[in-house]
Amino acid sequence: MSKENKKCSFCGRDASQAEMLISGVGAHICERCVEQAGLIVAEEKSLKGKANIPSFKLLKPAEIKKHLDQYVIGQDDAKKVLSVAVYNHYKRIGQNSVKKDKADDVEIEKSNIIMVGETGTGKTLLARTIARLLQVPFCIADATVLTEAGYVGEDVESILARLLQVADYDVASAERGIVFIDEVDKIARKSDNPSITRDVSGEGVQQALLKILEGSVVNVPPQGGRKHPEQKMIQVNTQNILFVCGGAFDGIEKKIASRIQANAIGYGVNKSEQIDRDNMLQYIAPQDLKSFGLIPELVGRLPVLTYLNPLDREVLRAILTEPRNSLIKQYVRLFELDNIQLRIEDDVLDFVVDKAIEFKLGARGLRSICEVIMLDAMFEIPSSAKPEKEFRITLEYATKKLSKNKMSRLKVA
Ligand code: ADP
Repeated sequence: MSKENKKCSFCGRDASQAEMLISGVGAHICERCVEQAGLIVAEEKSLKGKANIPSFKLLKPAEIKKHLDQYVIGQDDAKKVLSVAVYNHYKRIGQNSVKKDKADDVEIEKSNIIMVGETGTGKTLLARTIARLLQVPFCIADATVLTEAGYVGEDVESILARLLQVADYDVASAERGIVFIDEVDKIARKSDNPSITRDVSGEGVQQALLKILEGSVVNVPPQGGRKHPEQKMIQVNTQNILFVCGGAFDGIEKKIASRIQANAIGYGVNKSEQIDRDNMLQYIAPQDLKSFGLIPELVGRLPVLTYLNPLDREVLRAILTEPRNSLIKQYVRLFELDNIQLRIEDDVLDFVVDKAIEFKLGARGLRSICEVIMLDAMFEIPSSAKPEKEFRITLEYATKKLSKNKMSRLKVA
């Protein structure tokens, strides 16, 4: 076919009228029809997404926990509670989407989660690992940057903007995602009496959070902030979004202890029931969150409460090597890519753990310490003219590298 005779096989426009004509096997398509077809495909996909809300695999709680075990060391109680909550949550979404056909008035309520535990004990890691397993959009928000609308800072809506962004603006997919809100303890009411002062950073933000936690349709500015007033809002329904909150709640142990004490006196609880005073967090109850300064409505919207244990030496040591993508496995892989076998002696691992404890860096510090030890090797080996097949890290080597380094580099990442 000569150029003049070429026509769009869809709309019939010929080559002279079309800006562009793309040729396939025995057919052509103009730029307008390509765009049109693209829109139809996108629309169909989005409709399909909405219709198949529970289209991902619904894993059983035991399967979820087994998966978490591969990435997160210890924290068995939190893993179990989370696995059940997540299973119920996604089962609930499934039930709600078929409910219309059934005369069924049992509505399963949403099970947002709150995890209490020192920083660096795996709260974010747990939430992230679950989201990856379920292949749902996941984002992290920091409660400390949130303010009530009108104050400088981020609006609560910005959290949903971020979720939309990671979902590639597929609203249906974002609407069944997971949001991790870190540092919720930092928006606790500072005083027990809410009427004394208006607490901009605390109670107001809790009120604003309530709105998105309970399940409502929220107008979300796609770019996040209020800087683009002309932008079109996107409506996001938060009913099926799972919110997981986390916080260290420093000092909450005292509130737990005094509650237990009061109960023991009031009800004459059997004294022989031993209380493990070294880990009071395991006894945490919703009323402790209230005593700490979370408003009762917010506590009510976070019905699943669990705790994380502080990481001891043994757990830190396991974190270095055991998770599927442990730090040490990652270094070994990095060296492998340069055809070098990396060997790290056992006492080096103990040394790294000791230093993490000494510098009070927790699990996050393991990485900073390893980086300092490995830096020179990672810098020099790739450009070495005759690299060795094997690179061995001994305790002597590790100690030397770490002592050479300024301690200021070992800040918590
Ligand atoms: P949190 O949210 O509780 O402050 P994170 O989940 O961000 O802590 O943990 C920080 C890092 O420490 C993680 O990226 C992970 O490498 C490591 N880590 C912490 N706790 C664990 C754990 N129980 N198992 C494996 N790795 C952990």
